[in-house]
Amino acid sequence: MNKTTPANDLPIMATGEGIVLFHPHMPRNAKQYVCDVLDTRWIGQGPRVEQFENEFAEQFGGGCAPLAVGSGTDALHLAYLLADVKEDDEVIAPVFTCTATNIPFLYMGAKIRFADVEKDTLNIDTDHVRSLITPKTKAIVCVHYGGLPCNMDELHQMGREHGIQIIEDAAHALGATYKGKKVGEMSDFTMFSFQAIKHITTADGGMLLIKDRELLEKAKRLRWFGIDRSAKQMGIWENDIREIGYKYQMNDVAAAMGIAALEEFEETLALRKRLLQRYFDNLKGFDGVHCVGAGYTDREHAAWMMTVLVEDRARFQTYLRSHRIESGQVHYRNDRYSIFGGRQEGAFPNMDKIENNYLVLPLHTKMNEADVDYICDKIKMGW
Ligand SMILES: *Cc1c(COP(=O)(O)O)cnc(C)c1O
Repeated sequence: MNKTTPANDLPIMATGEGIVLFHPHMPRNAKQYVCDVLDTRWIGQGPRVEQFENEFAEQFGGGCAPLAVGSGTDALHLAYLLADVKEDDEVIAPVFTCTATNIPFLYMGAKIRFADVEKDTLNIDTDHVRSLITPKTKAIVCVHYGGLPCNMDELHQMGREHGIQIIEDAAHALGATYKGKKVGEMSDFTMFSFQAIKHITTADGGMLLIKDRELLEKAKRLRWFGIDRSAKQMGIWENDIREIGYKYQMNDVAAAMGIAALEEFEETLALRKRLLQRYFDNLKGFDGVHCVGAGYTDREHAAWMMTVLVEDRARFQTYLRSHRIESGQVHYRNDRYSIFGGRQEGAFPNMDKIENNYLVLPLHTKMNEADVDYICDKIKMGW
């Protein structure tokens, strides 16, 4: 038997409660570390942020430079600025993702070219991406949907051929690997989110990993209004601001939670992976359900979400609810939103096909294998 955290010894269903879709993971040492910070002089961006950055980069960065920020959205916005995306530049981004991936581009006046998804993974369709490239394309963003890495070889190939920056929105994919490489060490920029329900949470927070270490100083200035904070602290700052930054920093209270989460990350990830695999094994060969992203051997799934494709989704969801199992769509195609210009009929055939079929099932560290078995048993009884 694999080791489980004490909270998971009892299946949720045995406690008489329902199974919620998400639940924050609170590391054993989080409270202590947060209290320690509250007793010090530094509660804003201080030594804990630096420690968290270093430890995070050690685990996931493979030589990339880390920058801790206030949210994953902050990290994406900074990545786009550092990639030098400007007004009227074109960027290629997935049509199916959290709106946070795409909203920063609207602030910047960049032109978003949405790419379709692959039906089996809901990741960006690299053939469609290729067809969208023009001389004005500045960057391609990909999202590792649910935690399964995209076809990175293809994307990097396009990046090299056309001089396009590759940015990974890895909000779902902390701990994932692609052909033996860690998500975090492969691309020009990789962003992680520590929002409440992600693998690691700092309540809110994010991290940007930057391949070109020379960009780090600029990144740090942009994180803090454009001011060279360390020069300022040393009293050698010349009192000028030459680039427009903003306030994107992480604070030490949040970083303390992050440090506690890193200590037990291997364990958290292992549990999530076991739960996901249990779903895949249980539902294998069952006709009514297609498990998104199952069966890949050249990449390791970070097991953030368990998504299925089903017929008659509304009825399926009602049926699950009647058994006290929560489910949801979580993300929606972004072209449904007016801010992105509204629905582009026929432009995304795969998205059109799955749009009424995908559904996310519970996966979080309060669950154990018996909970997954319960859910799968109910599913296999039909709806
Ligand atoms: C959570 C998430 C984000 C945003 O992260 P925040 O920390 O909430 O700003 C961005 N992209 C994806 C795909 C996400 O799931």
